[in-house]
Amino acid sequence: MSTARTYLDYNATAPLREEARAAVIAALDAFGNPSSVHSEGRRARALVEGAREQVAALVGAKPAQVVFTSGATEANAWVLSAAQKWDAVLLSQIEHDSVLDTAANSGARIVDVAVGRSGAIDVGSLARLSAEPAPNKKRSLIALQMANNETGVLQPVTEAAAIAGERGAALHVDAVQACGRVPIDFAGLGATTMSLSAHKMGGPKGVGALVVRDDTDLVSLVTGGGQERRRRAGTENVAALVGFGAAAEVCAREAGRCAGVEALRDELEQRLLAATPDATVIGADAARLANTSCVAVPGKLSETLVIRFDLAGIAISAGAACSSGKVGRSRVLQAMGLEPQVARGAVRISIGHGTTRSDIERFLAVWADVVGSKALAA
Ligand code: PMP
Repeated sequence: MSTARTYLDYNATAPLREEARAAVIAALDAFGNPSSVHSEGRRARALVEGAREQVAALVGAKPAQVVFTSGATEANAWVLSAAQKWDAVLLSQIEHDSVLDTAANSGARIVDVAVGRSGAIDVGSLARLSAEPAPNKKRSLIALQMANNETGVLQPVTEAAAIAGERGAALHVDAVQACGRVPIDFAGLGATTMSLSAHKMGGPKGVGALVVRDDTDLVSLVTGGGQERRRRAGTENVAALVGFGAAAEVCAREAGRCAGVEALRDELEQRLLAATPDATVIGADAARLANTSCVAVPGKLSETLVIRFDLAGIAISAGAACSSGKVGRSRVLQAMGLEPQVARGAVRISIGHGTTRSDIERFLAVWADVVGSKALAA
């Protein structure tokens, strides 16, 4: 029996891209402190600034707008921990825990935006809620992800930006799952801030960025040294930043090559549904990321399915990796109004740059076995 594994959990983290690995390893030798003025320091500084240009280019931002962080959790926490300065924070229950928990702990007034059954937030609800006058004349903050990590459903960020513009609200976009998978134009979108994470696009873990519009006044979360133009203290993780930059450059080059991923995902869904007619693809009616498939099987338990697939050599997930181990059904699926018996059997299959047709074939073969469906259509 083959011991090779099939990895179909790219939304939890993507395998390190070759280009990122090579760049990280090479950068480990540039040991200088980027803040030092001598030649060793200047060499490290050049690497950091090169990575900043690569990340900025991927998302249509100016390099000076990219502030490197320890990941998107920090980037989200940076914006949301200061939430008390806003009149209210408008967000929905499909946001990532790093947004929701930080907002809840900030003491800010939280206004819950409705989520439609398609998996996208309800723009009408956002427009109505943001129209409520602020008694204290303070501005509000809208927090909205670009794509959902569990369903892949693309969120109406352009509409949210228009609403924010009309109401004078700030807009924070969590672009973690979208970055490298759909084109992003930070300048054109008009968001105030945007968070990014390297490891979802084939870069190393523990590195990300907050992209900050020029007119935005943010109090530093991590204080101390004057790094990152005095916005985020701490000696830069040079090798990781360089890996982030390399992954960003590959993603920028590959723009438009999502078609291959989408074709594999669509084939997987079609054959799976043909074999298991009572299964549902969650978010199928909405615009989605090309790589994500969230499938629910009535009468099954997500956690059991994940374990059965793992034993058969295939990595999939039961919702967000960072929520794994927490008991209870997915907050995202609940917000979409899915019946508990459907949500309980939902698994997420997410593919990417390394996925091949034989991975899909293997998944479908194991699916037939594990889900006990009728023979799979070829
Ligand atoms: N936002 C979203 C939508 C995510 O999926 C994740 C990662 N699961 C994060 C934020 C946190 O990113 P990081 O792992 O870089 O802290």
